[in-house]
Amino acid sequence: MTKNYDLVVIGGGPAGYAAALYGSAAGLEVAVVEENKIGGTCLHVGCIPAKELLETASVLRTVRQAKDFGIETSQEPVIDLSISQNRKQTVIDQLFTGLNSLLTGREVTIYSGKGFLSSDQKIEIKKENETEIIQGKNVLLATGSTPRTIEGFEIDGEIVMTSDEFLSLENIPDRVAVIGGGAIGCEFASLLNDLGSAVTLLESLDEILPGCDKDISTSLRRSFSKKGIDVQTGVKVEGHERKEQKTTVSWSREGDVNQIEVDLVVISVGRQPNGHSAGLQNTEVEVDQKGFIEVDERLKTKEQGVWAAGDVINTPQLAHLGFAEGIFAVKEILGENPVPIDPETVPWCIYCDPEVAFAGLTEEKAKAAGYEVTVSKHRYSGNGRAMIIGETDGLVKVVAEKNANGKAGRILGVHMVGPWVTEQLGQAYLAVNLESTVDEVANHIQAHPTLSELFGETVMSLTGRSLHG
Ligand SMILES: Cc1cc2nc3c(=O)[nH]c(=O)nc-3n(C[C@H](O)[C@H](O)[C@H](O)COP(=O)(O)OP(=O)(O)OC[C@H]3O[C@@H](n4cnc5c(N)ncnc54)[C@H](O)[C@@H]3O)c2cc1C
Repeated sequence: MTKNYDLVVIGGGPAGYAAALYGSAAGLEVAVVEENKIGGTCLHVGCIPAKELLETASVLRTVRQAKDFGIETSQEPVIDLSISQNRKQTVIDQLFTGLNSLLTGREVTIYSGKGFLSSDQKIEIKKENETEIIQGKNVLLATGSTPRTIEGFEIDGEIVMTSDEFLSLENIPDRVAVIGGGAIGCEFASLLNDLGSAVTLLESLDEILPGCDKDISTSLRRSFSKKGIDVQTGVKVEGHERKEQKTTVSWSREGDVNQIEVDLVVISVGRQPNGHSAGLQNTEVEVDQKGFIEVDERLKTKEQGVWAAGDVINTPQLAHLGFAEGIFAVKEILGENPVPIDPETVPWCIYCDPEVAFAGLTEEKAKAAGYEVTVSKHRYSGNGRAMIIGETDGLVKVVAEKNANGKAGRILGVHMVGPWVTEQLGQAYLAVNLESTVDEVANHIQAHPTLSELFGETVMSLTGRSLHG
């Protein structure tokens, strides 16, 4: 007899496992079908391994700075990447074990195999020569995404890599070309530079971190250049020619062709949604030309009882948004009528050095949306804690709506680049999403001395009065 569940989730990444955990906590009988490993991209080849390796870079920077604090280290620090890789794997394994026990503890049934959805919410699970069929009153498609590649750059795992291979890097290359200056490209460029590689970052658009507030990307670019990263924007990557263990990458700008010889090329040009992964034959589910599953604002596909969430739908490809969408879909299934998620206000965190974090509208987007805006920017160079830790690069920018009386009102966006901003974003995210005004936020106290004082200061100056300028 076909086993029937209240909810079957296809794909056990952040969107899928969040839905499974939340659904089971709400009393639903849930199954997850996963063809690879529970945890998905985020746990195995994404957020966690990337941040773990970036932490190695951060420790290295601290040790290099030790002399400034009067701590003499007898020699230049040396990196043993195999230890860092082992540490990374230990963290992944611990989280993987924890996640599996959470799911089984909540009585979520995990099916290993590739899930194919057909009509009537029937899911065929294929594993080697076996096929099993289960059925869900509701189905969530959370099949995620995989790295995009570019023509002429075949992934060989040796000299040309995507994030999947890069995160298992065994040796630090002397010279690297990172193609793509988005969040992942900037993190990798920063990591490699800290580890001692000569890095060229190639981005086709006019600025790195496209979509980010211009003041932030300009400040990051300046910091990158100061660290010695060669940032080239507005370029077209033409191809590469491999010779033994090296390759020459050609790129052009307005007709001028340049070449660089490197030991590694890292392709970070975005991620391809796995829209067709679950078959979807004989269903009404539609997949657009880019491979995204089409959903309405309630995350419903065109097939009755079938939802989709995470990287496979056309919203920002972020693990925490996947969690939120998975939870949203469960609330929908439970008939709780949740408020739709506005992708414009989700938090973004990028863990390069210096870090970048933001939520809400950029100055440009706010103006394009028809707001009269007023902005304030304050630099970490004047912040006591930043001086104490010796990391004064960066700024906080707050974009607020300008009221009819000319005064700053609601906070529309907060944009940060600097030390530990990924950990400072919380209150800014709440301010944007609670639609707080600058007066409301400025009334609250920031602990001293903290890096977060800069956010308080930036908001306070929008009230027309400030302490430090
Ligand atoms: C290097 C890197 C760094 C990143 N850093 C961050 C970060 O710092 N913060 C952040 O928020 N995001 C980060 N991301 C993005 C984040 O990893 C993704 O947004 C997130 O993993 C998406 O979750 P998901 O559940 O939608 O998909 P995925 O994590 O891709 O999971 C989908 C799962 O579905 C499975 N699957 C697919 N098809 C089927 C099928 N037919 N049957 C069964 N199983 C199937 C896959 O095996 C996979 O396990 C990073 C990504 C990368 C690559």
